[in-house]
Order: sequence, then structure tokens, then C-alpha cells
Amino acid sequence: MTKKNPALLIDLAKIRHNATIITTLCQKYGIQVAAVTKGFCAIPKVAEAMLEGGCSMLADSRVKNLQKLREKQFDVEYMLLRAPMISEVEEVVRCADISLNSEVNTIKALNNAAKKCCTQHKILLMIDLGDLREGIWPDVLKRTVDEIVQCDHIIFEGIGCNLGCYGGVLPTPENMSFLLNQKEFIETTYDLTLKLLSGGSSCGLQLLTSGKMPQGINHFRVGEAILLGKSTTDRFFIPAAYQDAFIIRGEIIECNRKPSVPVGQRGLDGFGNIPEFEDKGSRQRVILALGLQDITNVEGLTPFDTQSKILGTTSDHLIVDITDTEHVYHIGDTMEFFVDYLSLLTAATSEYISKELVL
Ligand SMILES: *Cc1c(COP(=O)(O)O)cnc(C)c1O
Repeated sequence: MTKKNPALLIDLAKIRHNATIITTLCQKYGIQVAAVTKGFCAIPKVAEAMLEGGCSMLADSRVKNLQKLREKQFDVEYMLLRAPMISEVEEVVRCADISLNSEVNTIKALNNAAKKCCTQHKILLMIDLGDLREGIWPDVLKRTVDEIVQCDHIIFEGIGCNLGCYGGVLPTPENMSFLLNQKEFIETTYDLTLKLLSGGSSCGLQLLTSGKMPQGINHFRVGEAILLGKSTTDRFFIPAAYQDAFIIRGEIIECNRKPSVPVGQRGLDGFGNIPEFEDKGSRQRVILALGLQDITNVEGLTPFDTQSKILGTTSDHLIVDITDTEHVYHIGDTMEFFVDYLSLLTAATSEYISKELVL
């Protein structure tokens, strides 16, 4: 069978290996790991490899992805990472055991939906520690919890925070201790026990490795570190993890020598920008059938062939300079690329990229 291009190659053994490394590290500190599946659109086989590697929950930001995973009936809890839309609360209580929340009105809507479905729904209350994405600001904690404890179909499972995303704020012993203090405050004020203290994502692993994560954080939600063996926000490469569990493969459709600067009177490029070119004389280049419709974040691609260089992209084409490489490329050959988290996400989302599981 001829292989389809472009393709996203997914090595399940490498993902299982990465998951094992990370869950083993976390276990040492009493931390359970939720496998975050949004980076690859929750392909069930990949999620399964993460569970085989020791993850104990499945977490995704999208209801649709959780529904897809649910159908496989993995014997774990399902967590919704993004705060629910009020318009989807019924779907949420059906497909997620637990969701991350920061709005009292949404929690009340979940409560009503759970009641209607004769079930209970667990929540993690997100607290914003400064990254300025989701979470209540700490000064309204008491007022918020006052309302949560009134909801009798809601199980207040714990609190959490999200860092290293919008604001690029990193986890530190200080902000993690602050989270622990909020937990203690809630437990003593309301005489209840919070089971989960969800302190981090991939960007918390470096703090953990350094031994400086305060005792008491017991839950991490990890995507990038398992999938790509690294954490971008703090530039941390997970020791002994693979960075190439996901690879993009594109096929060469033109192989020509051309000038490095466009010829003729110039206007704007296809996207309304004024492109700039450095004159390097005549260059040998290839065009791959791989473009922005497939991967919106071309900056996130790194060629395996380190002597080649991505020149640019259009909706349907990727242009690569191969003048300096020893490798010989022909029409019909393929080139392979490492991906970053965003290019992985868009490649996984694109229906034009075939998904090839390497078993
Ligand atoms: C995406 C996401 C994560 C996982 O982040 P990684 O950097 O992939 O580990 C964790 N928590 C929330 C709320 C998320 O949206």
C-alpha cells in the first residue's frame, strides 16, 4: 500500500515511553497525571498509549474530544480542561466526570444540568495565580466557595491553577505554596476535604525535578511533555524522553534551481504582506505539497535534515532551500520535520493530513 502524504506519523511506543518517564517522576512526589489529549485531537489509540504509560485520567479542552474518548470506555475519569460554555453544560455532565471552572454562574448551570440528568458533577475551582488566563482572582475566593457549597449536585473536588500559557508565568515554590494555602483556608473554613490540588502542566515538571515543588500538590495535567518530550515555556527537555514521537512527512512536487529574489515589479504577497528577500544568488530548492491549510504554524516545523532550510510557505506549498545539504532529493521523495505543540495541534486538526500510527 502506498503511503499517503502529507502525513502525521505517530509513534505509540515513544509516547508510552514518555508517559512512563513522566508518571514515574510524578509518582515519586505523590502526583497523579491526567493525560492531556487536545494536542492530537484525542485520537483514542494515542490516548490509550498515554494510559498504558501510567496516566490515570484523560483530559481535553473540548467536549467533542471527550465524547470520542468516552466511546472507547477507558476505565478512568474524564476531565474537561476548558471552562464549560453555559450552552453545553448538559453535554459536559454527560461526558466529563470533572471540569475546570472559574465562574459561579457556570457552576450553577452545571449543578442544574447534573440534577436534571440525575447525576453529580465534580469541579476543580481554578485560581489565577498571575498568568491571567482562567481562574478566579484570589480576593473573591470566599464569596465563590460560599456559592459552590450550596450546589448539591456539585462535588467540590479540588482547586487548581494554570500557568505558563497566556502570561508565561512559571510555577515557583512561592505561587505553589500560595495555592496550598488557599486549599487549607477552604478546608478549615468549610470543614471539607479537597481531594485534588492540580498544580501544573508540562511547565511544572522542571520545578518537580529540582525537588522544589511544595508537598501537597497531587495532580498534574500534562500534554506537551508526554507528546513532545519537552516544555516550551521554561525550555525544559525531559531527560530520556523522545522529541520525535510525532513527525510530519511531506512529499516533494518540484525540484528546481531558482534565484533567491523574486524577478519583476513587486506588489504584496498572497497574504497582503510585503515580503523581504536576501540575495544569495541562485539556489536549489524543493517545493513540498504541504501548506498553511495543513499546518498554520510553519515556524513550528524543523527539518530532520539540518542542512536544509525552510524558506517560506503559501496555502498549499512549503518551499525548502536544499543548496547546502549533502542529501540528494528527487521529485516524489519525502522530507520529515519535527513539530512543536501548535503545529502538531493544527496538523492533527487538518483533514488533509493523514494520521499514520507507527506501532
Ligand atoms: C492544555 C492544558 C494543559 C496541558 O498543558 P501542557 O503544556 O500541554 O502540558 C493543562 N491544563 C489546562 C487547563 C490546559 O488547557
